[in-house]
Amino acid sequence: MKKWLYAAAILIMGLMMAGCSPDWQETGVDYNNFRSMLEKCETKKGTYSLYSQDLEKYMLYYRYIDKEGYIRSHLICQQESCWHMTRECPAFYKHGSSLMGYDWKNRIYLLEKRDTTHDAAEGGTLYIWRIDPEKQVKELYLEYFLDMNSEGHVRWQEECLYNGVLYLQVGYGKENQSLLVTIDLQNGECQKSVPWEEKGQKIDLIGVDDEALYWQQGDNAIYRQLKDGRVELVYESDDRMSYGVLMADQLFYIQKEQVFRYEMATGEVEVIPDTPKIQMMGQYVEDPSKIVMTVGRKVENGTVYSGVAYYDPQLGQLIEEE
Ligand SMILES: [Zn+2]
Repeated sequence: MKKWLYAAAILIMGLMMAGCSPDWQETGVDYNNFRSMLEKCETKKGTYSLYSQDLEKYMLYYRYIDKEGYIRSHLICQQESCWHMTRECPAFYKHGSSLMGYDWKNRIYLLEKRDTTHDAAEGGTLYIWRIDPEKQVKELYLEYFLDMNSEGHVRWQEECLYNGVLYLQVGYGKENQSLLVTIDLQNGECQKSVPWEEKGQKIDLIGVDDEALYWQQGDNAIYRQLKDGRVELVYESDDRMSYGVLMADQLFYIQKEQVFRYEMATGEVEVIPDTPKIQMMGQYVEDPSKIVMTVGRKVENGTVYSGVAYYDPQLGQLIEEE
């Protein structure tokens, strides 16, 4: 379990095609991915990864292939006098950090979320950092404070970045209700809303695409809110499902320790072969032909080990796991 958590992984690449700000043009992939566990961000120049030993301090690394073809890895911060323990250091981040993506100048965007339960002084605050690895510059791109004092604690949950808009699910209050915060990264506009009718059920934001925002409600139902505000049931399973993720217009989820795929366009459901004992799943979509999942598999003594798996949409199966 711990190993899995350490490996951690989000990747949210969906960085922006439709941007009006030059920062968000010509960037990576326009996909609706999030909820992942391996904190990495692939750019044309190499891969950026966030590592944490204790889930308190996070360090940002850069991994690339040099001219001779060797894999090199180093901390983003190259200043010899730096202890990498201050807010100014481009490699150092605190609890609740995740990588979001990069822009056309290969600047990395990173999110730091502060919960009220974890951080009394800064609870409810969200920092979005922009890091220029080449110039070793770290700047605060946006700071947002969610004031829920009257409602008790604030706990940042799932997030998703799509077309320049950041979607965050936030838990609050004694009964852990949740609301949605959307932040337009191009103009800084922030909004709070509650798209779901909770009825005391657990809500889990699972994805966004051009048409709608998707979430799991309770144990077995997926709903979506369309652009015009209408809410509809997308899929209801006959059994408990978990770790639902939306990848390239398909819904993947775990049921009875196996991965299932639901094709939204056709309504087809199938079990993905060779996926027994899977306990957890995250995702990262580079393009629809290469879906990368992070999976956690249970072994004999009950321990869950994490790995990275590639799903081949043509074959309809996991083709590699490492
Ligand atoms: Zn440093």
